[in-house]
Amino acid sequence: MIEDQILHKLEEIVGSANISCEKADKITHSYDATQQSYLPDVVVYAENTAQVVNIVQLANKEKIPILPRGAGSGFTGGTLPVHGGIVLVLTRMNRIIDIDTDNLTAIVEPGVVTGQFQKAVEKLGLFYPPDPASLAFSTLGGNVAECAGGPRCVKYGVTKDYILGLTIVTPTGDVIRTGGRTMKNVVGYDLTKLFVGSEGTLGIATEITLKLIPKPEAKKTMLVYFETIDGAAQAVSNIIKNKIIPTTLEFLDAATIDCVRQGSGLDIPQSCHAILIIEVDGDADILDKQTRKILEIVEPSGVIDTQIAHTHEESEAIWSIRRNVSPSLRKINPDKFNEDIVVPRSKVPDMIRAIEKISKEFNVPIINFGHAGDGNIHVNLMVDLKQNGMKETAHKALDKLFLAVVEMNGSISGEHGIGIAKSPYLSMEVDECTISYMKTIKRIFDPNGIMNPGKIFSQDA
Ligand SMILES: Cc1cc2nc3c(=O)[nH]c(=O)nc-3n(C[C@H](O)[C@H](O)[C@H](O)COP(=O)(O)OP(=O)(O)OC[C@H]3O[C@@H](n4cnc5c(N)ncnc54)[C@H](O)[C@@H]3O)c2cc1C
Repeated sequence: MIEDQILHKLEEIVGSANISCEKADKITHSYDATQQSYLPDVVVYAENTAQVVNIVQLANKEKIPILPRGAGSGFTGGTLPVHGGIVLVLTRMNRIIDIDTDNLTAIVEPGVVTGQFQKAVEKLGLFYPPDPASLAFSTLGGNVAECAGGPRCVKYGVTKDYILGLTIVTPTGDVIRTGGRTMKNVVGYDLTKLFVGSEGTLGIATEITLKLIPKPEAKKTMLVYFETIDGAAQAVSNIIKNKIIPTTLEFLDAATIDCVRQGSGLDIPQSCHAILIIEVDGDADILDKQTRKILEIVEPSGVIDTQIAHTHEESEAIWSIRRNVSPSLRKINPDKFNEDIVVPRSKVPDMIRAIEKISKEFNVPIINFGHAGDGNIHVNLMVDLKQNGMKETAHKALDKLFLAVVEMNGSISGEHGIGIAKSPYLSMEVDECTISYMKTIKRIFDPNGIMNPGKIFSQDA
């Protein structure tokens, strides 16, 4: 419970239109895509860095938890106020400050929506590749905090590869500037890399400098239907083995296909048990050659049919299938456990087999789709939590899943972060000594533990 006099001070900082203790607003900001919910004491909307500084200084002095929040689309509970406190919403800081077409950089506020930023730079012939499936609503601040990825990251890399510099309000209310506007910068420690992916636990990004690249001239999108998931996994491995890196290499397994079959408008053959969405981009005159080469490589792995998009609309129709997968699965089963494991690319077939074994052993349906091209598989445990003992069973299945991932030299999260959802599993991948260094860094930045407490490290929760 925050005292009235502190609420008054917050109101003085942001104005009465930017603060709310209304129940409806608290509920709206109590959850994210995990479907877990914790009520904040107050919701505050910031409009500029100076306001963020004043809010954080007050929170630090009064030792009140502060939770940075973008669109609230995170999959691991990163923005949830597990200890109550101030949810600080950054969506009103949504200006694109500068797009520098001479140097291929841009400066934005954190609340800019990813997809809107991409459209703005593309109008100028530029390209910002990181493309989370949530790009229609996620914010660049949230993308930075989670180091978001997406289908195109197999060729172009993830958010951290495009962040040149940040303005950060630290948990003690200082303003620090990391990196800069240049492509190279080795002056001092690389604090930009430390902040990207730090899940809002080390400070609040109030300005982001991004790297842009020239927009590829053309692209070609293909849908390839396979008889088996093993065939599709093998095809992915073979494409990479042949030293071809397409722009995207997404896969959908049989259960995912069943979910999207209705309503997709696609005539998917009944014998199809796996789909790859493969896209190549670059100069128009080499795309046909690349497409032919890829189709030659995948053909022996049990290809049933291939569809190639000839127009932008046909390509978008294919991508809308992929982007709708997660919401469709959530509609079927709101309780599902959604994991985003990564394994070395050559291990994708082994991982798929291991997941099938776990599904049978625990009698839990598991649906897989995701970024096969970088070994990042979205594993969905379709549990029915109303069934007695199902939660415990699901956790046992998860233990086995993460163990298999770590044994294959993989990682338990490729792009969704740790938050609260995966914090109990952190020590399966990261050794105690390394975790203790991470905690020391956290303490240096946040001696009072006010910035997004309870995240990443489970014992703090
Ligand atoms: C349908 C769907 C599809 C998705 N697909 C993908 C995908 O393909 N790839 C992917 O990577 N993710 C995906 N996500 C997850 C999510 O969209 C990303 O993690 C995204 O980056 C979160 O952005 P947000 O603005 O919603 O952040 P929020 O959920 O509001 O916050 C996420 C984290 O960032 C912190 N944060 C937010 N803003 C700031 C800031 N300015 N400074 C410091 N910390 C901040 C929060 O405290 C929290 O820890 C998907 C989610 C959904 C619902």
